[in-house]
Amino acid sequence: MSDSPKPRVVKCPTCGTAVVWGPQSPQRPFCSERCRLIDLGAWATDSYRVEGDSPLDDEADPLRDLRH
Ligand SMILES: [Zn+2]
Repeated sequence: MSDSPKPRVVKCPTCGTAVVWGPQSPQRPFCSERCRLIDLGAWATDSYRVEGDSPLDDEADPLRDLRH
C-alpha cells in the first residue's frame, strides 16, 4: 500500500486545520480565504503595534495618572 502517493497535508497557520496541498485548496496553506485574511491582519497589527509601542506607552503613562 506504500506505493500510493500520499497527499501532502499542511496545517492552516491560523486555525490549525489540515489542508490538502493541491489545486482543491486555492487558499493553501490556509484552509479558507477568511483564515488567510486573518493571518494578514495579524501581521499588519503586529508590525503596527511594534512601531507604535513606544509612543503609545508615553501617552499611556499620563493617562494612567489622571485615571488613578
Ligand atoms: Zn484555517
